Amino acid sequence: MKSRDIKLNGLVLRKTNFQETSLILDVLTAEFGKIAVIAKGIRSNKSKMSGVLDLLNENEFDLYNKPQSDWYVLKSAVPIQTNLFGITFPQALLMQAAAEILRQIYIPAEDQVPIYDLSLKYLKYITKTQKNGIAVFWRFSLRLLNILGIDLDFNHCALCKQKKKQYNSFSTKFHGLICSSCYRPALGIAFSSPQELSYILSHIHSIGNLLEDLQISQLTIKQINKIFLDHLQEHYHKIFHLNSLEMYKG
Ligand SMILES: [Zn+2]
Repeated sequence: MKSRDIKLNGLVLRKTNFQETSLILDVLTAEFGKIAVIAKGIRSNKSKMSGVLDLLNENEFDLYNKPQSDWYVLKSAVPIQTNLFGITFPQALLMQAAAEILRQIYIPAEDQVPIYDLSLKYLKYITKTQKNGIAVFWRFSLRLLNILGIDLDFNHCALCKQKKKQYNSFSTKFHGLICSSCYRPALGIAFSSPQELSYILSHIHSIGNLLEDLQISQLTIKQINKIFLDHLQEHYHKIFHLNSLEMYKG
């Protein structure tokens, strides 16, 4: 008889209280994408496992797959990496922002492995980043969009297709940046600091080398966050919330 016991590594994206003493975990895995794991009785008797299940921990999970069900039942878990431990508040917010996006997107089977790898790399990078971590979050978001096949091109105008030094707006309708020659107010709200914003976005792939020198204004942070959220909303036809970024102050 085929065993329904499964051992795999996974990243805790969400913890929800369930009934009196149990927890439901949303777990990101390379093998099955996002899975729902029920941890029975975990909140009752000062279970040794409760700390293991903290948000954004990467654990080795020992699970049991309930027959005819999408649910997995937790047997045990061993921590591999506790990401939210010993970091700053901004770093914690940036990690949680990634978890929020991952919770809200649909992950096709062929994208499960690259998205899992990308997520682990991102968390590791954020722990090493002291300044302008938000730009690392944007790079993560862009890479995620690329894997999902809904890439954004920050190096050409979406209308005239030319490479420009400065873009004045983002159009959700045309899925891209709009240069000053093509810009009309009907296309979207004009950026407050188009030069600053255009420079950051056009250098996003090599942003790791620029983090120490960048000065990013709060308004630009808001506007770049909005570009990614608008693009995701346009693609998934639903509202995306990144509550952790509302609190991020750089
Ligand atoms: Zn143009």
